Amino acid sequence: MLNMPDIPATMQGMVLEAPGKPLQLTVLPVPSPAADQVLVKLIACGICRTDLHVIDGELPKPKLPLVPGHEIVGVVVRAGSGVGLLKPGDLVGIPWLGYTCGTCRYCRRQQENLCENALFTGYTIDGGYAEYTVAFERYCFPLAAQYAVAAGAPLLCAGLIGYRSYSFIGEHVRRLGIYGFGAAAHILIQVAIYQGIKVYAFTRDGDKEAQAFATRLGAVWVGDSSVLPPEKLDAAIIFAPVGGLVPLALRATGKGGSIVCGGIHMSDIPSFSYDLLWEERVLRSVANLTRKDGQEFLGLAPKIPIRTETEHFPLARANEALDALRRGKVSGAAVLVFGDEVSAPYINCPPETSMR
Ligand SMILES: [Zn+2]
Ligand SMILES: [Zn+2]
Repeated sequence: MLNMPDIPATMQGMVLEAPGKPLQLTVLPVPSPAADQVLVKLIACGICRTDLHVIDGELPKPKLPLVPGHEIVGVVVRAGSGVGLLKPGDLVGIPWLGYTCGTCRYCRRQQENLCENALFTGYTIDGGYAEYTVAFERYCFPLAAQYAVAAGAPLLCAGLIGYRSYSFIGEHVRRLGIYGFGAAAHILIQVAIYQGIKVYAFTRDGDKEAQAFATRLGAVWVGDSSVLPPEKLDAAIIFAPVGGLVPLALRATGKGGSIVCGGIHMSDIPSFSYDLLWEERVLRSVANLTRKDGQEFLGLAPKIPIRTETEHFPLARANEALDALRRGKVSGAAVLVFGDEVSAPYINCPPETSMR
């Protein structure tokens, strides 16, 4: 193994002992990488809504006890004996897709996001709510230095899943609706505007703060989810985990339009008239990500360049951060930061640009 100095024997982590319980700050052994894994020292770990679904018991069979977290930014500090692509000192991002088998029917047809034997970071394998984590080398993304900071963490899931959702909106889209204006939406709107698409932002009814946030990021129209936009949308993406938004989005979308559900969990979808789906409207979900999605998106991000708005928390305050997200009180994305970079709220910008 290639080693870097001063790797301690133990570390602090926030651990889920059982769904429905708060995370416990725990002293854990620093994990050892297997032959095809790297040990990564955390710089930051984003907090995703999926973490809430895991912690609240809405997703089946998590690893227990579990270190959650799958928006990991860090530096490789040790490489397993079989690692060939990465070396200590490399900056990496670690996403939700932690491992795939490469041999199941889905892997064989380039749908590794649907792999039957996949492992998911911070769900079925330990993730980034800890000072160190191990990851399979082939599922780490090399990260540009400008994103190897807290501001880069939300790109690893909110950005990636947002981008995968966006890739399914179809052709000829000039007017895109986004339902739920949180971490994923605040990244995706920058991609859409960069590509000349007008964004219509829908928030929880009466959420003026989120509506102002969407306006500041360039939405041409903002409003409550329960109202219809002034023009028919060409497509819509639903990030909020609310099934009742599906018929609303279908109603707001014109003929041939796609409705993409970007979340891993959603409350029940109410029944609706076939008229809403008729005229070749398409309703679909998006599951996980492929490494190709990650390479495409992380290649595009610095060109736009994507900026994120993040609220920072130290590791020990993860429960507080999760609760803020649960109550819709996070503007942009919540991020756990390791080291000195703690302040909240905090706006991250690449040096040459700033948020409007
Ligand atoms: Zn597979
Ligand atoms: Zn996520």
